[in-house]
Amino acid sequence: MKLNEQKALVVFSGGQDSTTCLFWAIRQFKEVEAVTFNYGQRHAAELEVAAAIAAECNVKHHVLDLALLNQLAPSALTRSDVAITEHSDQPPSTFVEGRNMLFFSFAAVLAKQIGARHIVTGVSETDFSGYPDCRDVFIKSLNVTLNLAMDTTFVIDTPLMWLNKADVWRLADELEVFEYVRDQTLTCYNGVMASGCGECPACKLRNNGLQQYLHMRMAKQTNDGVTAVIKEVTS
Ligand SMILES: [Zn+2]
Repeated sequence: MKLNEQKALVVFSGGQDSTTCLFWAIRQFKEVEAVTFNYGQRHAAELEVAAAIAAECNVKHHVLDLALLNQLAPSALTRSDVAITEHSDQPPSTFVEGRNMLFFSFAAVLAKQIGARHIVTGVSETDFSGYPDCRDVFIKSLNVTLNLAMDTTFVIDTPLMWLNKADVWRLADELEVFEYVRDQTLTCYNGVMASGCGECPACKLRNNGLQQYLHMRMAKQTNDGVTAVIKEVTS
């Protein structure tokens, strides 16, 4: 089957990043579907949030069962008895070794079945928090490998690769979904919607980025306002 250049499969968790990517893909491609992996996340709420967003966006939503991941790499994301900790010299305990390689490989199998040439993911090297499989070099390498493995011409799109968290908020704003992403997504490790528990590493990253973006936006609005006044006075 020939892959459709105008069709994309978004790797989707219902969090800030992948939701922003979903909206990006909807603007970019004629046909969009989404895939969420069920791997025994701490909070089943993640799956419900992802399903709800996909339904609201009229996007076909696939859920693939990857429970074996929990068996292979128990971590703080999947086991409530493992505490979430952070060390500056190593990946956080939420790290599931090799997760993205598995996710994107399964996504590629599905993408080929539905005829989608594009696979979209919200990975970012900027805020990669020590996850080696969020790096651009890994994505490019896997892209080549998948094409060789399936004799095809997939393109893995990573619209957030070089964006920090504040930039991701800006992108959501540019896509006119800032409020939606702020209020309807789930990023928190403790399963709290929107701005979250405020305490876990995911919440801290998300909320710091949001504050940073809001400051930037306010500064720009003030700047634009001043420029407009100067224009008026001098014309
Ligand atoms: Zn949290």
